[in-house]
Amino acid sequence: MRLTKYFLPVLKETPSDAQIASHRLMLRAGMIRQSAAGLYSWLPLGYKVLRRIEDIVHEEQQRAGAIAMLMPTIQSADLWRESGRYDDYGQEMLRITDRHERDLLFGPTNEEMITDIFRKLVNSYKDLPKILYHIQWKFRDEIRPRFGVMRAREFLMKDAYSFDLTEADAIHSYNRMMVAYLKTFERMDLKAVPMRADTGPIGGDHSHEFLILAETGESEVFLDRDVVEKSLGDRAFDYEDRAQVASIVEEWTTPYARTDETHDAALFEKQVPQERQVTARGIEIGHVFYFGTKYSAPMKAEVNDPERGLVPVEMGSYGIGISRLVAAIIEANHDENGMIWPEAVTPFDVAIVNLKQGDAQADGACESLYAGLKAAGLDPLYDDRSERAGAKFATMDLIGIPWRITVGPRGLKNGVVELTSRRSGASEELSPEAALAKLASIYQPVRSPSA
Ligand code: ATP
Ligand code: MG
Repeated sequence: MRLTKYFLPVLKETPSDAQIASHRLMLRAGMIRQSAAGLYSWLPLGYKVLRRIEDIVHEEQQRAGAIAMLMPTIQSADLWRESGRYDDYGQEMLRITDRHERDLLFGPTNEEMITDIFRKLVNSYKDLPKILYHIQWKFRDEIRPRFGVMRAREFLMKDAYSFDLTEADAIHSYNRMMVAYLKTFERMDLKAVPMRADTGPIGGDHSHEFLILAETGESEVFLDRDVVEKSLGDRAFDYEDRAQVASIVEEWTTPYARTDETHDAALFEKQVPQERQVTARGIEIGHVFYFGTKYSAPMKAEVNDPERGLVPVEMGSYGIGISRLVAAIIEANHDENGMIWPEAVTPFDVAIVNLKQGDAQADGACESLYAGLKAAGLDPLYDDRSERAGAKFATMDLIGIPWRITVGPRGLKNGVVELTSRRSGASEELSPEAALAKLASIYQPVRSPSA
């Protein structure tokens, strides 16, 4: 993309009403625009990041065996009356009446709808197990929408739903999703920690919220430092192997990690040595929950089990806040000059800054780099404006492109361009070909990771 042809409405002033860094930076960099309280348009730069996050989530969901589909945003109130949640949900639910006086609602989540689809279309145990998911906009009329897309009213969520014949099968589905989440967040360079969550009347310990640590997080968290250091890395595992998947889950859920909702001070003291105790704040980016027959029993989503006859299916649901993640990643990756995107989700892979726009040699070198990067499958943003170098650097620093190639007549005389890392600030002089080869080798494993 050439900057002169792009739509990047960068704001000169810092919006005064934005309280946290991600909100300020997203507004300043022209990633989002508020249209009403808690409702945002995704401008081109923000939309690119959103799509990159979606792509990673799709890949890892499918790798774990989940199947993509799409359900509507508007739902029938009758389904929610069947589960009993129509009244329980309260004022967070946006209720709508159509021209025939039918009660509808803008979905805050999809347990009822997917359970209805399942009960109408599946009746044999032979069709199990299944995990179905979609990525769709949700609406929750939050009392206090704030921090931009972090707590919005309309937001994009990945929600998956598992269907199994037995509890043991359902726990395997739960474990698959847990591991898929570890993979997903690790690919985004996030240190996400599964923390024990409330199961309410369902009971049991199969509910975890994934949080990243950030000073601006809304939850207080208590954890064993060890769990933050863990990583899957290139570890090979097979999602079909129950024991293997369960052991990864056990490894991550054994160390103490809880939010204020489930925190047990005495247990914390007993279980975690003083020097490893961490008290911090966190942002919830995902939630996994095994809830058995909570919806399938009242809604009669049943299958014929050869031994037990007609039984309600065992279910779980698994959410990821896709749009919240954009903000959460910025909270974890920024400095005083702007955002610093991890390569996996960056809106553009590399910035090309032409120090002397209009100089035939500099223009030619930039054009050939631009074409070369595109041919190598990379997504460059070429700052082809006739601006001062300082202004060009400031824009690229603000929007956080991880790599910058600076091209100027002086370097070209020696056959080199400058390659600069946004994160470390370190620069090196390379031939254009060597810069291109280095970038290709950085991005290749990020974009097509193995196992
Ligand atoms: P929270 O405690 O933050 O309100 P929740 O428990 O209501 O979240 P879930 O129902 O578990 O959220 O939804 C799954 C995911 O959707 C959450 O982990 C979060 O990342 C995201 N999410 C929930 N509410 C919002 C919101 N208002 N704006 C943006 N993302 C949200
Ligand atoms: Mg939650």
